[in-house]
Amino acid sequence: MGTSAADTYDYILIGGGIPALFAARELIGSGGRIAILERDILCSGAASRSAGIVTVQLPLRFDVKASLNSIRLIEEIDRLLGDDYRIIRSRGLLTLLPGSRMLDRFSLILKSNNINYRVIYDDELNQIVSDLRVDSGEVGLYTDRDLVIDVSRLCSALKREILDSDGVIYEKCGRVTLKIGADSKVYKVNGECIKYPLKAGTYILNVGAYTRDFFIGNGLKEPLPRQIYYKCQLSSVTYRVRTDVPVIFDLSTRAYIVKESENRLLVGDGPCRVINDPSEGLYIDHEILYKVVFDLRERFPRIEEAKMVSSWAYPCDTTHDLLPVLGEHDVYRNLYLIYGLSSYGITRGPYLGIQLAKLASGRRIDPELTLLKPSREREGKDMDFTCYEPHTPII
Ligand SMILES: Cc1cc2nc3c(=O)[nH]c(=O)nc-3n(C[C@H](O)[C@H](O)[C@H](O)COP(=O)(O)OP(=O)(O)OC[C@H]3O[C@@H](n4cnc5c(N)ncnc54)[C@H](O)[C@@H]3O)c2cc1C
Repeated sequence: MGTSAADTYDYILIGGGIPALFAARELIGSGGRIAILERDILCSGAASRSAGIVTVQLPLRFDVKASLNSIRLIEEIDRLLGDDYRIIRSRGLLTLLPGSRMLDRFSLILKSNNINYRVIYDDELNQIVSDLRVDSGEVGLYTDRDLVIDVSRLCSALKREILDSDGVIYEKCGRVTLKIGADSKVYKVNGECIKYPLKAGTYILNVGAYTRDFFIGNGLKEPLPRQIYYKCQLSSVTYRVRTDVPVIFDLSTRAYIVKESENRLLVGDGPCRVINDPSEGLYIDHEILYKVVFDLRERFPRIEEAKMVSSWAYPCDTTHDLLPVLGEHDVYRNLYLIYGLSSYGITRGPYLGIQLAKLASGRRIDPELTLLKPSREREGKDMDFTCYEPHTPII
């Protein structure tokens, strides 16, 4: 099978997650001809299962920078689309902390990143979240930059923009295969959705938790650092919480509580479970979800009324050092990778996608991001990985 000039692009992106869509937008903006090959439909992976929280309350400096930039990008798109198609659903996030020692650690991070925050003491917390059972000494930390977004709207807006600027999108592509030349470069890509293979100068892989499977399936050298998978889950619960705060992160249960509507909450994460294979991440672990909702009863005594309406699960991926991977594959020189976004890919994705596009097109990127380069760990060593939310300041 041959390829014609029409099947030749500057960049081919494999996998249509949030980073790929922002990368595609950036590459088109700088004059590149792009095609995206997506196994299913755009954003049908972890992105479509997410709660859509974009938070600035994160421990790593690059994450706060990523979040602020992602917020700016999303705000721009939201403004352009106007009132009929709002991507931003709400703003602000309240973290409940057990006491002042934790508050010192959290606020130090926010201060060093120039993020404005408000401390809410125990007596005041009930004025803000009226149903909440507040322990003595407990404090709240509130930031107002954070967003909750409608990920599927963001995805459709980006899709429309890419198609309007002559980007090519192949969905329902099924198995995608790469052919590597003798010079260790990718020279063509094929998929079940196309008749003839496509060629590009540069390839970008954004297949999330399926990155390792992709390399194994293609008989190629796996990238390093090695992926670690864990189960990410959410439950939609009917329960009325009297609060104007759209998102509460409860450090004692490690659960996110997102106010979806007057009588509906999204409750998620909490303790998570490491899994051996991404496919295990597709099944709901009721034990974990019931525990998250049960623990919430301690917090919201009226939650006995709560009914779990629906729940879903999907694999999230991280790496041995808990950092994402962004950069060129250390063997295949025209193949650029992004994976390991953990449970923060909606927050990290827009900014990191753009940085990856810049790197792949030979432009300068934020020097701090060399920290994320694929060759940082040649031998994926065994580790005792304890699953926790990166939201907690661990560093
Ligand atoms: C329940 C849940 C809640 C979450 N909540 C939040 C949140 O509130 N805030 C936040 O910041 N993050 C959240 N996340 C995390 C976030 O969704 C992920 O970090 C992010 O979506 C990962 O992005 P990705 O592009 O790496 O992977 P994905 O979003 O999974 O995208 C990868 C894409 O590649 C495609 N693909 C896979 N294999 C192939 C292949 N072989 N060929 C072609 N295409 C392929 C998939 O179909 C998919 O479209 C949550 C995740 C889950 C599961």
